[in-house]
Amino acid sequence: MTLKPMQIRYKVIQHQIRCNSTIGAPLSKASVPTLRPPLAVLPTGTLLRSLLVSAISSNRHLLLPSLSILSYLSDPRRGALLSVDRNPVLHAILKKTFYEQFCAGENATETKKSMEKLKQLGIRGIILTYARETVFDHKTNKAQPQGHILDEKNIDGNYCPNIEAWRKGTLETIDLISEGDYLALKLSGAGPVAIEAFNAGELPSQQMMDALDEICIRSRNRKVQILVDAESQHFQRGIARVTLELMRKYNREGHALVYNTYQAYLKSTPKLIEEHLEAASKEGFTLGLKLVRGAYIASDERALIHDTKLDTDNAYNNIAQGALKQHIGNFGGADGRPFPSVNLFLASHNKESLFAAYELYRQRLNSNLPTVPVRFGQLHGMSDEVSFSLIQLKDVYNDNVGPEVYKCSTWGSMRECLAYLIRRAIENRDAVSRTNDEYSALKAELRRRLGFSSWFSSASH
Ligand SMILES: Cc1cc2nc3c(=O)[nH]c(=O)nc-3n(C[C@H](O)[C@H](O)[C@H](O)COP(=O)(O)OP(=O)(O)OC[C@H]3O[C@@H](n4cnc5c(N)ncnc54)[C@H](O)[C@@H]3O)c2cc1C
Repeated sequence: MTLKPMQIRYKVIQHQIRCNSTIGAPLSKASVPTLRPPLAVLPTGTLLRSLLVSAISSNRHLLLPSLSILSYLSDPRRGALLSVDRNPVLHAILKKTFYEQFCAGENATETKKSMEKLKQLGIRGIILTYARETVFDHKTNKAQPQGHILDEKNIDGNYCPNIEAWRKGTLETIDLISEGDYLALKLSGAGPVAIEAFNAGELPSQQMMDALDEICIRSRNRKVQILVDAESQHFQRGIARVTLELMRKYNREGHALVYNTYQAYLKSTPKLIEEHLEAASKEGFTLGLKLVRGAYIASDERALIHDTKLDTDNAYNNIAQGALKQHIGNFGGADGRPFPSVNLFLASHNKESLFAAYELYRQRLNSNLPTVPVRFGQLHGMSDEVSFSLIQLKDVYNDNVGPEVYKCSTWGSMRECLAYLIRRAIENRDAVSRTNDEYSALKAELRRRLGFSSWFSSASH
């Protein structure tokens, strides 16, 4: 599937946003909506912090040492002086910079406050995750639990204290978010016993399955949905298996309570999606399809991942557009099998993919063609220009609907969040052109506020 016409359309939209125009034929002066630059919504403090983090992220000479420092500090064996939890100066520096840029808060009060601030900027809802997770260290070939306060030695018979701590933290997370928000579930956060099962491609212990049932029921009662994160390939077979079980059980009312995450960079993903469509079709449940490109390229087996970025981009766009056209593999299309119920969630910072998907969605709605509900998500502290440009499409199209945009944030102590922060830094290191674009957009916004240049001239740099 080629994206060319969509890309052209996307560029037109971008141009029209900058020119304060709308889609289609030129409008009369009276009907041209007055659009503010997308980043104009950011409070100045947030803009300045974003600029600082973006300046570091877009400069390898600053980013690589910062990444080394973060990795060094993430080792729990460091003494009090280098402990992010015990050294107040270190804690304050990290908190005011990287932590507040990417994370929601260390406790309930901080988290609720920062989620509220995001919603006030026009974000439809929050995707909140509890930071505890397990990272697979390919140097030692071992799973490294991050922020687990309990030792494996404490595991007694069938009862695992790590699963219990994860259950409690997750239920607390559900209580922090509101109706219409999402809970993002990182299953590896349940620790080594759960990881062992995922590693073997098996369902986890009864204790973990009971915890998942409790989490699903609490989420359903509070009218929040669940996005189960995709993780390292070492755990992913088991994670996808348990998520399919949950979708089977809970996605029964014509919409998805639970979404599985599909990593487009994996060569095997189209086959997995077809298998899950098959299950949804046969068993009559809604498939929750959260699509990402994939965040573990640095640690996962390279041969499993597409050879080039372009191949990953094509895979992402094919799946997103296939779902929106209700045509994937043997499902949908003129001679295909009936397309099952699917709810789509596009998680990405890639403007081309997201604008093209929304444009296709809108075209299909306007032409009364079948499609699936779609929502969009970016990470907290990243690609604000993408998020707010998407939100502005409502005014560009002047049709009152517009894309539903969510920001995904993490909460937890500084130590629990370090692995997450390191992944964000690695992602920025590997996305040179995106981080440069973000930095340019932020600088343009600062210049605009200082009155140095008009939005149009600065944004077109
Ligand atoms: C809301 C949200 C939730 C997320 N949840 C998850 C999750 O559950 N699991 C997960 O794994 N990730 C998750 N991610 C991260 C995601 O997978 C990507 O790593 C990240 O968003 C960057 O990809 P992009 O789509 O934004 O676009 P881009 O920046 O255009 O693409 C970068 C991505 O392209 C791929 N890529 C880069 N170089 C190559 C290459 N040489 N060959 C092949 N592929 C390449 C990699 O996947 C890389 O991350 C999430 C992202 C968001 C925004």
